[in-house]
Amino acid sequence: MDPAPDARVTLDPENWDEFRALAHQMIDDTVDYLQNVRNRPAWRPMPAEVRDSFRGSVPQEGMGAAAAYADFKERILPYPNGNIHPRFWGWVQGTGTPLGMMAEMLAAAMNPHMAGFNQAPALVEQQVVRWVAELMGYPENSSGVLVAGGTIANILGLAVARHAKCGFDVRQDGLQGSGNHAKLLVYGSTETHNWVFKGLEFMGLGRAAFRSVPVNPDYEIDLAALRKMLERDKAAGHLPICIIGSAGTVNTGATDNLESLAEIAREHNTWFHVDGAFGAWARISGRLKSLVAGLERSDSIGLDLHKWIYLPFECACVLVRDADLHQAAFASTASYLAVADRGVMAGGIPFANLGLDLTRGFKALKVWMAFKVHGIAHIARVIEQNVGDVQYLVERIRQTEELELLAPVPLNIACFRYVRAGQTDEVLNRLNQEILLRVQEQGIAIPSGTTLNGKFAIRVANTNHRTRREDFDALLEAVTRLGREV
Ligand SMILES: *Cc1c(COP(=O)(O)O)cnc(C)c1O
Repeated sequence: MDPAPDARVTLDPENWDEFRALAHQMIDDTVDYLQNVRNRPAWRPMPAEVRDSFRGSVPQEGMGAAAAYADFKERILPYPNGNIHPRFWGWVQGTGTPLGMMAEMLAAAMNPHMAGFNQAPALVEQQVVRWVAELMGYPENSSGVLVAGGTIANILGLAVARHAKCGFDVRQDGLQGSGNHAKLLVYGSTETHNWVFKGLEFMGLGRAAFRSVPVNPDYEIDLAALRKMLERDKAAGHLPICIIGSAGTVNTGATDNLESLAEIAREHNTWFHVDGAFGAWARISGRLKSLVAGLERSDSIGLDLHKWIYLPFECACVLVRDADLHQAAFASTASYLAVADRGVMAGGIPFANLGLDLTRGFKALKVWMAFKVHGIAHIARVIEQNVGDVQYLVERIRQTEELELLAPVPLNIACFRYVRAGQTDEVLNRLNQEILLRVQEQGIAIPSGTTLNGKFAIRVANTNHRTRREDFDALLEAVTRLGREV
């Protein structure tokens, strides 16, 4: 029997006016929070009692929205990992934008199911994918889909490559099927991001399927070594299925010679995939475009929108030049997902046929809003500013005797260290690790670290639209001060 009307339950607010007031408060508070981000330290460690306070068991009775929000403001909001701060340059992360925050809210309000369903949200995603394809120089009839991150975007590209080039029905038979097919191999430089290992392991090819090609002094793939490996492997009866080029490596921002990789891939009938996680976006700048020339000749690209397009996490895109091959690698059907001629299911669930996700969120809206609100020309200027500011940082490093640049800086990443005359690399490595940790712990700035040819580097990756040159001055001032102190 239906309970009495006053005993019915729902998760909508009991009092919409109260909810509206709290929602306005949340917006006011978060706009303040973003506007004042520069006035806070780049990072602060969490007090032990706050850290320990997250151990309580699951609440059986609710505390109400106002109390939960107060708790959020006290224990969560003050302790992020720092990436929205103007002096955050660690790893490769994005900052997000105020507009992106609001677009996330609008998307969550609509909460459409993005397996497909041919209504406005699906058209937005299709338009966004076409825009990204256009910006990357891909043909209009190419295919793509938004996913959570560069890792999964790249892995999907590799999965299409495997399906297209393996020479047997890998979807039906799997790698265990016939047992007598050639060993499938994938090529990329030693600087390839570690998504490739996750992907190869997950796809059952294993890490051993990756041929790690050495790099030249600019950290770009050694083309002669690649050619030699391909020939040797083919002579041994193996089947090269994919060459991976990097447009912007994670360590130093190097870009492989993509024109030559496209040629080599064609000569050897392999797939050519580009990991352009952040670097691909150099293409939208007239000034930087030539750095990633050849990108547009690839068979697939994985790229992030939550790094160098500055959008809130998560958002990335895989593009596949041949739409049929993209579809063929993933499309599947089930009676409960059958397409109808009319009604809500008209048009089917095209996005679910382009990757692994079925239920998907409306990530496309924040991209659509950002491109419309700012325009590509403006976003390109921010990217150019990031590159120009890193060149400024490099100039200052060159002018400072106690600092040493450890790699060429073709794009937005600089690797350097503090040096003392007469010290071994081992001592300098420990010294620079300590400097890095103190710069972070003192909340001055957040670079990250990496090791290049046995030398520990303080690494700055600038995908931060809030950074100013004075922020880099503050970083160098701290590094040299700490270098003398430690
Ligand atoms: C960040 C990055 C990835 C992985 O992307 P996620 O969005 O973190 O999954 C892959 N390749 C490169 C070059 C990257 O910088």
